Amino acid sequence: MSLLSVRGLVVNYGHVEAVRGIDFELVAGQITTLVGANGAGKSTTLMALSGLVKKAAGEVRFDGEEISSTAPHRIVGRGLVQVAEGRATLTTLTVRENLELGAFTRRDGAAARARDIDHVFSLFPRLAERSGQLAGSLSGGEQQMLAIGRALMAKPRLLLLDEPSMGLAPLIVQDIFRTLQRINAQEGLTIFLVEQNVKQALKLAQRAYVLENGRIVLQGSGAELLGDPRVQAAYLGH
Ligand code: ATP
Repeated sequence: MSLLSVRGLVVNYGHVEAVRGIDFELVAGQITTLVGANGAGKSTTLMALSGLVKKAAGEVRFDGEEISSTAPHRIVGRGLVQVAEGRATLTTLTVRENLELGAFTRRDGAAARARDIDHVFSLFPRLAERSGQLAGSLSGGEQQMLAIGRALMAKPRLLLLDEPSMGLAPLIVQDIFRTLQRINAQEGLTIFLVEQNVKQALKLAQRAYVLENGRIVLQGSGAELLGDPRVQAAYLGH
């Protein structure tokens, strides 16, 4: 069952053709990754899903409904939530206050929100230990955890992440990716991960697409692409 489907998506910045007619599916309950080098068009693709850039052509269907002309806040309200860049946590607020803000689109009560904060703390014990600390004083990895936790507070049906591994030490990346895997396995949350860290992303994802110069050039299961000589030569340094 496809939760999100993209057909013929084109995004231009003036004369720059950033995304040149791509098709892909996000299957409900799966982790899908979009990998590629700098400038391949990954962030632009994500922004098009979140409604932050306008498409020139194509369609984006979320749960069967065309959303590519929908306002960004309405897209979030429907459950398609992008994790903010790690450093974009609100640095002068505490960890707990950042998590509370993540729930701002929800209409359910304080008890449900408190329960969900506890849930985020159980997923990321380092955040629990630092709940009263200002977000600006967290390490890069902890800020990334907080950004994910804040997105989870919006009760997403689809979680989008733009290079959560960027600038982080390998052990922290492993820790964060394991947690994403756990959330996916335990809660069935559908995840779309955009990454330049091709190896880790392919290990994590059930389904994967490779983007080059705005076009999808390869697709398959994460395991298939890990074993593909073209992927190994271009991205894994084999
Ligand atoms: P990175 O990992 O470096 O962010 P990316 O795969 O996410 O790369 P995009 O950021 O989507 O790639 O960029 C795709 C292309 O669009 C690049 O050629 C980039 O220079 C161009 N581009 C991105 N944003 C803009 C913009 N605001 N104005 C003009 N061109 C842009």
